[in-house]
Amino acid sequence: MTRADPSSDGKAKAFIRFQGVSKRFGSFKVLKDIHLTIQSGERIIVFGPSGSGKSTLIRCVNGLEDYQDGVITVGGVPVSRALGTVPQIRRKVGMVFQHFNLFPHMTALENCMVGPVARSVTEKEARNRALEFLSRVRMTDHAAKYPNELSGGQQQRVAIARALCLQPQVMLFDEPTSALDPEMVGEVLNVMNELADTGITMICVTHEMSFARRIADRMIFMEGGKILYDEPPEVIFSRRGEGRLVEFFEHVA
Ligand code: ADP
Ligand code: MG
Repeated sequence: MTRADPSSDGKAKAFIRFQGVSKRFGSFKVLKDIHLTIQSGERIIVFGPSGSGKSTLIRCVNGLEDYQDGVITVGGVPVSRALGTVPQIRRKVGMVFQHFNLFPHMTALENCMVGPVARSVTEKEARNRALEFLSRVRMTDHAAKYPNELSGGQQQRVAIARALCLQPQVMLFDEPTSALDPEMVGEVLNVMNELADTGITMICVTHEMSFARRIADRMIFMEGGKILYDEPPEVIFSRRGEGRLVEFFEHVA
């Protein structure tokens, strides 16, 4: 059911790789022997029922969660707290969360500048970068505002700009629109659509199926800590009446 590992033909270059990865919280196995290869520039949508391990899967990519078995590599470097590679990995990997997580005491501009400045980018360069990315997410006019002066959709667009200011090679999104009022979902998806067109590698947990269909190279369906499907969107959509997908599509339809 799972598509063949695209790196196995020796042509495609793996950028992110899970090889036999398992993770437990205590005795509870949340990821079970995950094998997954993502090439540079691929756009991956992860979906599936609540509690299936989607957040844990992507949080493992940037070392927000540790894992017990197997190995995850990003750009050939193992993601490993024990080996101390996590800071190095996080320089390549940006993340956007469901609840924005902006610093409340900083303006939109300052939120975007703080990361680069902490990484020794000059104040001037950090400001230029912040203004460039705030413009890309159409938040230039709100650069001087604090998070509590912004709508949820605006805060999420700032969070996307903030992640991009660190010039990541891959962006992880964990249900970036699921905490938003319905009228704000579109503005965030528009920004993500444009980002997808830039060719950046993206892994996005979302249940926005029309967005998924438009941008995904592959859609990964998880259940019970396993990948049940890993297929292009046209295949997933053609199988929506099948097996475990049927239940799931019933809930999102
Ligand atoms: P999803 O994002 O698909 O809803 P998660 O990856 O958040 O799923 O969680 C998968 C399972 O792991 C759930 O059953 C959840 O309760 C459990 N879990 C997640 N985080 C923790 C944690 N820090 N401690 C214990 N169990 C956790
Ligand atoms: Mg989750």
